[in-house]
Amino acid sequence: MSNVMLADERQSVVDLAQRMVRDRLVVGTSGNISRRVGDHVLLTPSGTDYDTMTAKDIVVVTLDGERVDGLLNPTVEMPLHLMCYARHDAQAVVHTHSTAATALSLLQDEVPPVHYQLAMFGGSVAVAPYATYGTEALVNNVSNALSESTGAVMKHHGTICIGENLQKAYDRARQLEWLCDVWLRARSVGEPALLPADEMERVTAGFLSYGKQPTGTQA
Ligand code: 13P
Ligand code: ZN
Repeated sequence: MSNVMLADERQSVVDLAQRMVRDRLVVGTSGNISRRVGDHVLLTPSGTDYDTMTAKDIVVVTLDGERVDGLLNPTVEMPLHLMCYARHDAQAVVHTHSTAATALSLLQDEVPPVHYQLAMFGGSVAVAPYATYGTEALVNNVSNALSESTGAVMKHHGTICIGENLQKAYDRARQLEWLCDVWLRARSVGEPALLPADEMERVTAGFLSYGKQPTGTQA
């Protein structure tokens, strides 16, 4: 493994891709993950079984999408991932086909503020209008939805979350699915109450420092 370029970083992409299956954020070969390492982007390959995926299957490209290493074709959503690095200052991108978020996308234009946890995305998460997978239209729709947020739901499709590292992007993907699930469960039996805008603003401001520990105390 040691003679494979960026072996550890590639393995971190495989590990989270396989966890996406265990956490039921994707089914089969759907969804994709990437992370930036300097001027390179490491992407999951297209249509490849996560169970048997290994570090050498991860495709390494430049920020412009030129292949640097890897034999497989990168995810068809490579333009979507590269957009997140170019326009939204991402260091990692997680794209899921999670159930609750996809169901919510058929009913709402944004994720309703049913729980204060929505603040971790910057206060709101929009549902990007539908466009065919892998297209420039989808890239633009999702980019608009990410203009004020670190996550977006994609209509008839799934979710996308960005982060300052792979772990943060992945945590957002799980939290977003959980939020959508809370709304769906409440909505299935009634009209969910929503948090008022001024409370969401307060919590969103508080979340800027949430989880930050004193320097030197964390691994
Ligand atoms: P890939 O297998 O090419 O990553 O495509 C899956 C997907 O989710 C497309 O939107
Ligand atoms: Zn997809």
